[in-house]
Amino acid sequence: MAVFARASESDVERRNDFPLIRGRILEASVSKDWETARREWEYQRLISEEDEDFVDQCELCNQVGLRANYLIVNPETGRSFRVGSTCVTRFLILRGTTSSEETSELVKRAAEENTALRRLHALVGKVFDMPTYGELTQFRAAAEKVLGTLDNTLVSAEKWERFTKLLLGPTPTARAVQQLRTVLFDPGKVRTRVPRRREPTQQELAWAQTVRPKKSRAKTTLVRSKGERPGEDL
Ligand SMILES: [Zn+2]
Repeated sequence: MAVFARASESDVERRNDFPLIRGRILEASVSKDWETARREWEYQRLISEEDEDFVDQCELCNQVGLRANYLIVNPETGRSFRVGSTCVTRFLILRGTTSSEETSELVKRAAEENTALRRLHALVGKVFDMPTYGELTQFRAAAEKVLGTLDNTLVSAEKWERFTKLLLGPTPTARAVQQLRTVLFDPGKVRTRVPRRREPTQQELAWAQTVRPKKSRAKTTLVRSKGERPGEDL
């Protein structure tokens, strides 16, 4: 009986938070019809915890402890909300999508893109200044996540401009853009460096001096190969 009581309580809670969220969305939308209003909104960008405009509370449902905000904007009214992923997928059908499932997919892709962009930002300085082969490979893999391809003939001018701005800032220099082009589309021209090796420790040096040199490999191989070819004398 207790289990049933608890289940129905949470159902009531869930039904109760819906009018609050619906009210907030309707109030900030043009249409007063819910099904139309929830389709007026578009996803703009993801705000990470470290960003200045991050809030840890969802502006639609008041849930606290968010790790990131999805910034959604209504282009008609100019209103915006910083919300958690749950609210986006439960209540909105974002522009460019036709269902909750497609909206979920868009939100998932946005989160993946954000992770890739953070990786790109962490590596861009190294990649522009003699990266290791590993750094170059990681950078290109992250760029592929954001661009969808590393074939420059398939990247639209619009997409490329957005990408360079996200990575290099609002007014990137021509030189930086050219460097980025080379790294992504002509990586054979990028000079890479061998990762610096660790110096041997005193103990390892001392140990190396006490080890007697082995027989040379050539000798060993010769001896063995004679022994292992019994048919040779026939
Ligand atoms: Zn929420």
